[in-house]
Amino acid sequence: MELWRKALPLSYSRINSFLRCPRKFYLKYIEGLKEPATPAMEIGKSVHDALDTLIKNRGDMLKALEKLDTLPEQDYTTARKRFKTGVKLMQGLVIAASEINFGFDSKFNKVDFNSPDCFFRGVIDLVIKNEDGSYSVRDWKTGWSDPDPRQVIVYSLPLIKGGLRVNDAGFFLLATGGIYPYPITDVEVNSAFNFISKSWKLIRDRFDDAEVDNVDPIEKFQPNVSGGCSYCSFRDRCKLSEVGGIEDEIRNAQIDKEKAQEVFDRAREIVKETGQPLFVTDESVMALTETLKLKIAGKGTEEKNLNKAAVIRWLIENNGAEFVNISSTMPPEITRIMPPEIGNLCIYKPSPSVKVISASEYANMEV
Ligand code: SF4
Repeated sequence: MELWRKALPLSYSRINSFLRCPRKFYLKYIEGLKEPATPAMEIGKSVHDALDTLIKNRGDMLKALEKLDTLPEQDYTTARKRFKTGVKLMQGLVIAASEINFGFDSKFNKVDFNSPDCFFRGVIDLVIKNEDGSYSVRDWKTGWSDPDPRQVIVYSLPLIKGGLRVNDAGFFLLATGGIYPYPITDVEVNSAFNFISKSWKLIRDRFDDAEVDNVDPIEKFQPNVSGGCSYCSFRDRCKLSEVGGIEDEIRNAQIDKEKAQEVFDRAREIVKETGQPLFVTDESVMALTETLKLKIAGKGTEEKNLNKAAVIRWLIENNGAEFVNISSTMPPEITRIMPPEIGNLCIYKPSPSVKVISASEYANMEV
């Protein structure tokens, strides 16, 4: 069997893995090395199963929650919160289908997910039927990493190929309750097909180059250290001296102050992306916390400034002088004693931030 065939069938995650780090893609999909599931993956899978069970069993909450039972206590709390957010996001929607497997052959004709001719495949988390007869595609996102619109636009293709009108495709962000929809026009559809075809050409070209140069194909799949090394299971295999355990680096950075800022910044990015805490010492962790941040309502700078002035005036007249610079951390409780015309100018949005807190505080935190 030609080695390149092992890269098939493609999927959004395979392509994304290749674009982030070609070496990781090679080790995982061509050499077939197993990647142990991380807590974030386990949470994601259980929450997906629970939401799918809820939909397919007409809202049977007990049956759905059973899908979270196998998680350890700390992950269960996180998963349950993500699940509840998903339930809230579905309220009032007409769910047409959930967890649909699809496959395309190399000419983008529909084929079975498990067909030997399958060239690209995926699983659509949710299809919503809109009042005007069109459909919307949604993907549940349980972590904190930035969603990639290409993923959901690609997931709208099987419905469009099946003759359905897809209005938009997007993400339900279960960590924040946010919704990211992207409208679907012919431009997006064509760019999604191009994304798959061009990515495949990039992968195939590397095998062809290896043949021409008569080298082991892995040589053409170079490591990319910005591809997420700190939580990559193949660190030992890719033999990069730069790749070390980020937790060890954090500990060392506490001693080597010059390096501290850089290591902590990188660690913050990892916590944000994976949603998982890192131990800084045996008693403290770097973890994702969520605080409410204030924004003043208004369209454009002029309206915002007028609204800000009205809030400041009220604060001065009502002994709230310590907040007159309208700090984004002004507690929301203050708005409850404001008259509605002033309180409504203060909008609070959840803002995730990464902080070092004590391990016991983390354990008690409602994640
Ligand atoms: S450790 Fe980094 S460079 Fe090596 S395979 Fe993993 S992501 Fe790629």
